[in-house]
Amino acid sequence: LPVVLGPQEHRINPQLLSSHAVRVTQTLQENGFKAFVVGGAVRDLLLGVKPKDFDVATNATPEQVKRLFRRAFIIGKRFQIVHVMFGQEIIEVTTFRGASSDNAPKDEHGRVLRDNTFGEQHEDAARRDFTINAMYYDPASQTVLDYHDGIADIRSKTLRIIGAPEARYREDPVRLLRVVRFAAKLGFTIDPATREPIQVMAPLINNVPAARVFDEMLKLLMSGHALACLQQLRKEGLHHGLLPLLDVVLEQPLGEKFVTLALENTDERVRQGKGVSPGFLFASLLWHQVLEKWNAYKAAGEFPIPALHLAADDVLNTQTEKLALQRRIATDMRDIWAMQPRFERRTGKSPYKLLEHMRMRAGYDFLLLRCASGELDAEVGEWWSDFIAADGPGREELLAKKP
Ligand code: ATP
Ligand code: MG
Repeated sequence: LPVVLGPQEHRINPQLLSSHAVRVTQTLQENGFKAFVVGGAVRDLLLGVKPKDFDVATNATPEQVKRLFRRAFIIGKRFQIVHVMFGQEIIEVTTFRGASSDNAPKDEHGRVLRDNTFGEQHEDAARRDFTINAMYYDPASQTVLDYHDGIADIRSKTLRIIGAPEARYREDPVRLLRVVRFAAKLGFTIDPATREPIQVMAPLINNVPAARVFDEMLKLLMSGHALACLQQLRKEGLHHGLLPLLDVVLEQPLGEKFVTLALENTDERVRQGKGVSPGFLFASLLWHQVLEKWNAYKAAGEFPIPALHLAADDVLNTQTEKLALQRRIATDMRDIWAMQPRFERRTGKSPYKLLEHMRMRAGYDFLLLRCASGELDAEVGEWWSDFIAADGPGREELLAKKP
């Protein structure tokens, strides 16, 4: 049975709740179902942080949920969830999931392939990853249901996996990345038993479908704490031979300054609520690998521009294999890289053409990072900042006085 906490104990500020999430739980409850805000949102509410999105858990089936809302869509094949839309906001509604049974299909390493049965609320709680992610909040009664002592772990800032750590990592090795992400993002300490198996279990991530690893990496990089997350990954030994991306990012001394600046920049934008493009981010993370290969191709006699494209191909091919970089993201990365030599041509019509480029803004931001990291003379970035800001005659003047 869960521990039930009233408003005096949990001290959740109702102002931090999304009115749409409240509407969803209320509608479900009025129709005789159980419904709670769950997971990351409850964790954030207990920490006094405004959740960035809201999930609702219910004992209603996806079909039953869908019927209660005007704009509701069932998504997912493996385990169906319902997206209830309110303008820009999506409330994700999930039916309580059952405990993964011992005879659920697994791969040869013990990773659970399918466990899509509905279940009781206590089973739903037990199959969540961390104690702090397994609490339920009922906005109507303003109570928190805590099945695994999550509230104590919130208070002591402890990240603790539910159940036997080894078994839980084996079931789903993505949890290895999630530990690191939450520890870094929340500034929590990883409980020793939760932490102990991480390093030996790390290779299990190799058996997870690339698209899932990519999703989790993207969450990590877009968390607003990407730099802290990557440092934590290194600390936990999760960077060796695990993902080619991490090898490159965490083990290239020359690129470290650049990557650090890029991540600081990203984290700052995320925290200010500005958008971050995955293409820009991955282009930054892999730039020094591109540079290295670009130089090698040039040294082997290729002309600079074809050499850059060959280098980009090499890097993208290695990454797509394991990381399932989506084509759209790979295209953005290639564009950003391919623009870079064009910033160094500051004569004639070239700079004007570059201004018209669809991704000029991203290419220019990238150029500024290169300057800030010391890879490129700061003068180039300053010239471009002036050129962008200048009017017609000003631009002609800049072209004339180009060093
Ligand atoms: P964030 O605020 O970063 O989105 P979150 O806790 O909401 O954090 P999600 O990835 O959105 O993280 O997952 C929502 C919830 O689903 C989690 O809080 C957790 O209860 C459960 N969950 C997600 N992934 C797993 C997993 N791999 N294993 C077990 N439970 C999971
Ligand atoms: Mg979430």
